[in-house]
Amino acid sequence: MIEEISKTQPEIVKQFMEIVQQKHLSHAYLFTGEVGAGELEVAMLIAMRLFCTNVIDNRPCGECTECRRILAREHPDVVMTKPDGLSIKVDQIRHIKAEFSTSAVEGSQKVFIIENAEKMTVGAANSLLKFIEEPIGTVTTFLISPEKQLILPTIVSRTQVVDFNGVDNQLLIQSLTNLGVPPSQRDLLLSLTNSLPQIEEWVQDDWFYKLSNQLIKWFEYLTAGNKLALPIVQMEIMPLLTNRTQQRLALDLIVTIWQDTLLCKYNSAALDSIRFQSAKPVISKVASQITTSQLLAAIDELLTINAALDVNVGFQNILEAKTLKILTLFSK
Ligand SMILES: [Zn+2]
Repeated sequence: MIEEISKTQPEIVKQFMEIVQQKHLSHAYLFTGEVGAGELEVAMLIAMRLFCTNVIDNRPCGECTECRRILAREHPDVVMTKPDGLSIKVDQIRHIKAEFSTSAVEGSQKVFIIENAEKMTVGAANSLLKFIEEPIGTVTTFLISPEKQLILPTIVSRTQVVDFNGVDNQLLIQSLTNLGVPPSQRDLLLSLTNSLPQIEEWVQDDWFYKLSNQLIKWFEYLTAGNKLALPIVQMEIMPLLTNRTQQRLALDLIVTIWQDTLLCKYNSAALDSIRFQSAKPVISKVASQITTSQLLAAIDELLTINAALDVNVGFQNILEAKTLKILTLFSK
């Protein structure tokens, strides 16, 4: 079961295992998404990770007494409930609350999993609300529901929502923060990929940071008509690009800088919402200095790079040629 879930929701599982390890688990989560996307299984896996006596590689073993009791739904500190008939009634929630308060040892961990949470009656939901707001001891509640829109907004707003249909942005952002990625690079990275392993690779040894900085420098020189833009390509940018994937990423970043500039040219208020936040001062300056026709001509040039890459022309040759071409647009 552990392996299966790790396969269907690798990102979510990985992130939650790290969250548990760092003791950053929140009071309440709402797991939502299509039926069968692994919401219940991931909640149980997190509970197992919390109680397992034999954690291997930051994963629960699935074999120890604690793990087995959770899998059999018989663990006293992991209480699971689902609709009794058509709804989850207030008595069911009250019963669990009572059970938790009598058995709670100060500081001990409890997990509460509610399946089909959209079927809670208003009374049950209100009773749960108090419980989420004033938990007894260390309790984490997992609400599981394929229909988030049917859950009372007051409940939803007090949970951290994890969408199992796609990779959850909030979780990704938390992981990026844990990786030490500064907020100025976060949105840019997330606009390029949703894959955490991919981002981990990019930010290793500050590679992404170095590349972005050099591209910003290149852009600044280029738009000033400064011929030093060419040696930046040869000596600073190219050594950072050792394979096709990295080259394509660099190209995406280049196009992003120019698009952000275009955005700011038309609307200076857009500066705070551009993707390339670390290039903000340069983009702001360039947008105010260059003409729209220069900008559009440069973007036209850059957009043909992709086609050239497809016919296997060397990236350095293309980027050098484009640099020289764009320089002529800006030379004074
Ligand atoms: Zn175990």
